[in-house]
Amino acid sequence: MLLGKYTYSQMHSSKKFYCSKRRRGCKASVALHAGGAIAAADVHHTHPPDDFLITKSGAYVKI
Ligand SMILES: [Zn+2]
Repeated sequence: MLLGKYTYSQMHSSKKFYCSKRRRGCKASVALHAGGAIAAADVHHTHPPDDFLITKSGAYVKI
């Protein structure tokens, strides 16, 4: 799923989605109600949005 500029992956059959960068240590997650509405969201990502790249100099560049 996409929320803001970040993508999230669903964990098994639960209604909880974790940031696609979770394996890199990002703890952001989103929980959904059965109807699809957002129940809870932690959007404190440790990285820039997916449509940005970090250059070697540390700047964020939009793709
Ligand atoms: Zn993240």
